[in-house]
Amino acid sequence: MTLESFDPPPPPPAPSSSTSIDRVMRPRRAAPGDAVRPTRAEVNLAALRHNLRIVQRHAEGAKVWAVLKADGYGHGAPAVARTLERAGANGFCVALLEEGIELREAGIRAPILVMGGYYGAASAELVARQLTPVVYDRSQIEAFARLVKSGAVPGPIDVHLKVDTGMARLGVRMSELAAFGQKLADTKEVNVVGLMTHLAEADALSPEEMNHQMSRFDEATKQLAQIGIVPTIRHAANSAAVLRKQARLDAVRPGVAIFGVAPVAIEKSENESTDLHLTMRVRTEVAALRTVESGEKIGYGGIWTAPRKSIIATIPMGYADGLSRALSNKGHVLVRGKRAPIVGAVSMDMAMIDVTDLPGVSVRDEAVVLGAQEGVLGKDAISAEEIAAHVGTIAWEVLTSISRRVPRFYREP
Ligand SMILES: *Cc1c(COP(=O)(O)O)cnc(C)c1O
Repeated sequence: MTLESFDPPPPPPAPSSSTSIDRVMRPRRAAPGDAVRPTRAEVNLAALRHNLRIVQRHAEGAKVWAVLKADGYGHGAPAVARTLERAGANGFCVALLEEGIELREAGIRAPILVMGGYYGAASAELVARQLTPVVYDRSQIEAFARLVKSGAVPGPIDVHLKVDTGMARLGVRMSELAAFGQKLADTKEVNVVGLMTHLAEADALSPEEMNHQMSRFDEATKQLAQIGIVPTIRHAANSAAVLRKQARLDAVRPGVAIFGVAPVAIEKSENESTDLHLTMRVRTEVAALRTVESGEKIGYGGIWTAPRKSIIATIPMGYADGLSRALSNKGHVLVRGKRAPIVGAVSMDMAMIDVTDLPGVSVRDEAVVLGAQEGVLGKDAISAEEIAAHVGTIAWEVLTSISRRVPRFYREP
């Protein structure tokens, strides 16, 4: 036995402002090594790079700051950021400070914009990690000014100012911009390097509302210039706007397009592929099979009754994994390359599918909930949009709903 083994354990770390951040940043999440169940999400890194290239082409020179909030739309933000940074993404946007820190800890060096606005006790951490805050409220500016004046961090702190041009969610209202701008101009500890707004209807059929917002944004830019605030980087476009080649300015903020979902139709190009590729594939395996008689009921509440003698397969994925309960008696899963309808109520950890029309299904066959599958019976794909339509939501929610207990595997096919 070595001497070291008699040493007392190190004392618990003293509580500091970063302790709570550490806790938020490291929630338990299934890793590939934990995968006992065959249920997992495969993230295709080549598809991420492909989608970035398509977005870059549509950005036509504007910088691409990929939006990686909510753990990179459920894909695992660190791995996605590393892949995109190497592939030429110019920066990243996140919603939360914790998300920004997670990316820095993953070794990301590109600029990271923290869009949500909650900096609280961790403002010094934000500056130390070279994260760029978005500001829209006097209290944020005052807090940053105090921080610099106290000597806790060097000033001035570079910020992006957010203007509300019609989304009515976050941002300085146009009616308050003059006064707010003056406050910023008077606060030497804070330096406005960026100006941003967010579009509410970039995917609408009519561009009218988007154009309206952009003309307000131009007006805001002029107003600020009059009091000496001239940000070097202006940005407004989400995925829908970039893909429409609108509102691109100095930088664009695509999120869902990077993950293979096009909120608007993409104009075809003669010489190159313009299709986005879905970056996440969620798969599991058939866990059990049974034959039920005509008239037998299935699952909780007996909400599906076999109309004929049927073969029912159980898959180990349920609503706690992100297979929405709204898919009960709706939607499909791919087995052997063909669709099998989801039957009965989706339960917490499992769901049932009707494989009566799919000859030869056996236990351990792959079952694909999201993405493509090729098998002996054919070849098909289930898109996030298709699931969203069944559930009554949008593709963004489908991707971000795949829960923490589904381990992410990264592939370079
Ligand atoms: C989420 C978000 C985006 C990205 O939106 P997508 O539609 O996913 O491209 C851009 N900007 C802000 C402020 C956002 O919150």
